[in-house]
Amino acid sequence: MANNRTFTMIKPDAIAQGNEGAIIQKITNSGFKILALKMTRLSREKAQAFYAVHEDKGFFEGLVDFMTSGPIIAAILEKKNAVEDFRALIGSTNPEEALEGTIRNLFASNIQENAVHGSDSDENAAIEAAFHFNDDEIVTY
Ligand code: UDP
Ligand code: MG
Repeated sequence: MANNRTFTMIKPDAIAQGNEGAIIQKITNSGFKILALKMTRLSREKAQAFYAVHEDKGFFEGLVDFMTSGPIIAAILEKKNAVEDFRALIGSTNPEEALEGTIRNLFASNIQENAVHGSDSDENAAIEAAFHFNDDEIVTY
C-alpha cells in the first residue's frame, strides 16, 4: 500500500463557523494535493459505520450526534508521507494539547468538536477513502 494518500473530513463545527475555506487553504499550502472533494451530510448509519471502531466508547453517541448535526466536507489528499504529515498538520485530538499553528489549535472548540478528521494509518486511509468515494470521483494529475 502506497504511503502517499490520506483521507480527511472537515467536520460540522468548522463548517458552521465558516472555517472550511481557511482549512482547505492551510491543507493545500502545506503541500497536499486534493484528489477528491465532496460536501455531504452523513446519515446516522454512515456516521456509526465510519466510527465503528469507537462504538464501545462513552463518547460514541455524542460523536454520532455531532457528526450528523450538519454537513461535512470529505476529501482524499496526496502528499509523500501523507498520513503522518497530515496528523502532524491537524494536531492532537484534544485541542488543548494541539501544538501552536495546527488546524485543531486554530479551529477546534473542544475534544469532540475538533474541526477535522485525519486517517491514522495507510490501511485506514484506503478504507475511509473507499467509504466516501467511488473510483471515478478520484482524479489523477
Ligand atoms: N472524540 C470525542 N471524545 C473523546 C475522544 C474523541 O468526542 O474523548 C471524538 C473526536 O471528534 C475525535 C473522534 O471522536 O476526533 C475520533 O476519536 P479518535 O480517538 O480516533 O481521535 P482522532 O483520530 O480524530 O484524533
Ligand atoms: Mg482516529
